[in-house]
Amino acid sequence: VRVLLTSDRVKRQLVAVASGKGGVGKSTVAANLAIALARAGRKVGLIDADIYGPSQPKLMNVEGSKPQARQKTLIPVPTPYGVPLLSMGQLVAADQAIAWRGPMAAGALAQLAEADWGACDTLVIDLPPGTGDVQLTMIQKYRPTGAVIVSTPQDLSLIDARRAIDLFAKAGVPVIGIVENMAGYACPHCGEISDPFGSGGAEAAARELGLPFLGRIPLDIAIRTASDAGEPPAAGTGPHGAAFTGIATRVAA
Ligand code: ADP
Repeated sequence: VRVLLTSDRVKRQLVAVASGKGGVGKSTVAANLAIALARAGRKVGLIDADIYGPSQPKLMNVEGSKPQARQKTLIPVPTPYGVPLLSMGQLVAADQAIAWRGPMAAGALAQLAEADWGACDTLVIDLPPGTGDVQLTMIQKYRPTGAVIVSTPQDLSLIDARRAIDLFAKAGVPVIGIVENMAGYACPHCGEISDPFGSGGAEAAARELGLPFLGRIPLDIAIRTASDAGEPPAAGTGPHGAAFTGIATRVAA
């Protein structure tokens, strides 16, 4: 399924990154997936539609930069990772955005989705957690090519993830697969692996639901510190970069 998004007649793949609840690493996965797809040769743009916590400007190292507009059409902000970005956080202060009503959030999403994405052939969309207005507008108005669901391994996160999967499935948007994040913790001191949230839960859920399992990212302090520094692991050469490359390969297949 391909969509015609803007008048410049570029056919774009829209990859929605979703989760049942917040804090599971959806934004982290979206940023790194976008970078990994770009490194694989795609022309990728990133839409940060997470009104509750627009974190992409920080993750992509362009905090504080505001997009220009040409005849009311926004021009995405270039990032150091070759992935232009537009974020809800660039339209309004983050603490304001969470008070937006449905129509305002839908209007803001339209500004981001109908921006001047130029030659981008793939847009990765970081959706808010859950199953609210932004998700519905995204599904109904822009028809994503597919959805990537991010979950942590524990049951509660997976129960919520199933709701998100259900939303896309009922709307006829293919679920590309499930990513398990924060799976297994490597102690930075002794290297011992422990499983604070268990692991394998998302893979088992994917199997049960007949969905592809896209890969697993461990809980690692290095991921958080790199993310906070605006240096997503997918842009580097470390082991987590390879994990995100694997996920991107499966998403692009
Ligand atoms: P969400 O978008 O689901 O709310 P975020 O991507 O913002 O979640 O991640 C929440 C927090 O967890 C951030 O501080 C992020 O750096 C951290 N984080 C995400 N994934 C990992 C991981 N695999 N290991 C360590 N920290 C992580």
